[in-house]
Amino acid sequence: MDAKMEKKKSLGAKTVLLVEDNNDLAALLGGTLKDAGLEVLRADDGAKGLDLALKHHPDLILLDIVLPSMDGLVVLKKLREDAWGKGASVVILTNLNNEERVSAAMEGGVYDYLSKENWKMEDVVAKVKERLQEKNT
Ligand code: MN
Repeated sequence: MDAKMEKKKSLGAKTVLLVEDNNDLAALLGGTLKDAGLEVLRADDGAKGLDLALKHHPDLILLDIVLPSMDGLVVLKKLREDAWGKGASVVILTNLNNEERVSAAMEGGVYDYLSKENWKMEDVVAKVKERLQEKNT
């Protein structure tokens, strides 16, 4: 973590880790979350996502399921094996045709999921903020 990020963290900015291999989607989502005042870390594959999560301990992880190098459900499983990661907040990013895998993720202890096919950016931000606030109380 660099000094700038350390400073922002100490000022109370929440960090969201975005694990998503679709660059357009990640740019849109990442930009929207930054505009909402959040720190955004990004990984474009599963292994990098897991690595960043364990290094930076983000306040929330937005996790895609279909990812290069390591599937999102494997990332989730490995995360839950870690002392910090077992309590980490995870929201799954998914497509509507992934119902079975979403159920598997929910069993793995994810907080919620967002469907990529019919979301509105304001709903995403609202859900992220809702989860970050719940963690504070
Ligand atoms: Mn994907």
